[in-house]
Amino acid sequence: MNIPSEEKLNEITKKLAEILRIQDWDIDIKTAKPLEMEEIGGYYNDQGAVNIDYIHKFAKVRIGKDSVLDWYKTLFHELLHIQDASFYQYLKSNCDADNDSYLTKIGEQRINELAKSFISIYPVTNFIKDESEAN
Ligand SMILES: [Zn+2]
Repeated sequence: MNIPSEEKLNEITKKLAEILRIQDWDIDIKTAKPLEMEEIGGYYNDQGAVNIDYIHKFAKVRIGKDSVLDWYKTLFHELLHIQDASFYQYLKSNCDADNDSYLTKIGEQRINELAKSFISIYPVTNFIKDESEAN
């Protein structure tokens, strides 16, 4: 499935943010090359990455141009991280360093499961009816 245009990606992000009740966040969504993923704290081959400023409710979401398998699922996954941000921050500040990687791991698993469920309930066809529209 091709990643839609930046304009369409913005429109989809706005709608998903409303559904997740994070519409008051300023979300900067773009596709990115591997090095650009690293610039916001992701890894070179990540399918998606998010950089969150939960105090100012600002987030940069990047979808890996060359690495993403399912951009819609990845977008939703990154938006769930935004929804989770203050809760996760609270958990992190209340646990010791030993539990940090454990928290990250279970957090990722939980978000992956939620993203999977969501895209089956609210599939990409709500936005893009036909694959030819994707470019
Ligand atoms: Zn994640």
